[in-house]
Amino acid sequence: MDILSHGLMGAAAGELGHKRRVLWPFLFGALPDVFQALALYPFVGYVHGRAWLIPEHADWSGFRGAYPLASAIWEAPHSLFFLLLCIVPLVLKLRLPRSCIAAYGLHLLVDVFTHSGEWSAAPFWPLSWKLEGYWDPWKAPPEQIALCVGLSALLWLGLWWGRRFRATGAGENGQGEA
Ligand SMILES: [Zn+2]
Repeated sequence: MDILSHGLMGAAAGELGHKRRVLWPFLFGALPDVFQALALYPFVGYVHGRAWLIPEHADWSGFRGAYPLASAIWEAPHSLFFLLLCIVPLVLKLRLPRSCIAAYGLHLLVDVFTHSGEWSAAPFWPLSWKLEGYWDPWKAPPEQIALCVGLSALLWLGLWWGRRFRATGAGENGQGEA
């Protein structure tokens, strides 16, 4: 799944917390893919001699097996161990919203179900056990990515609206009781 959809799903997780949060859960929802976007993506393009280091879909085929060390840039942040040993302590230490942990975990969960084939998720990396998902988001055409972004935005807006609706209802009830 694309990084923007993951961020929007993180923002949706932020709507479910005790206090409403948007920006931090959005960032933590996108975070597992940031490392890959900044380092692995251009490296794949470099290895295949692509202009502006922008890889083509076919360049990812066989890459995970041929470059396991470079692929660790994607594997490590997508591991539950990384979530438990790095993200949870970081969020608690910096006193960030707890929904950041949920947003990050949601990213890993969604990837488990959406990544298939060569790039299926290994949730207990460095253990190599993989779960087979149902899609290949890394080679999705633009219209599918746009659909994902749209649905994720709808999820977030739906939860935001539901929260507002409940808050308004509670306010009205409160006034009625007073
Ligand atoms: Zn991911």
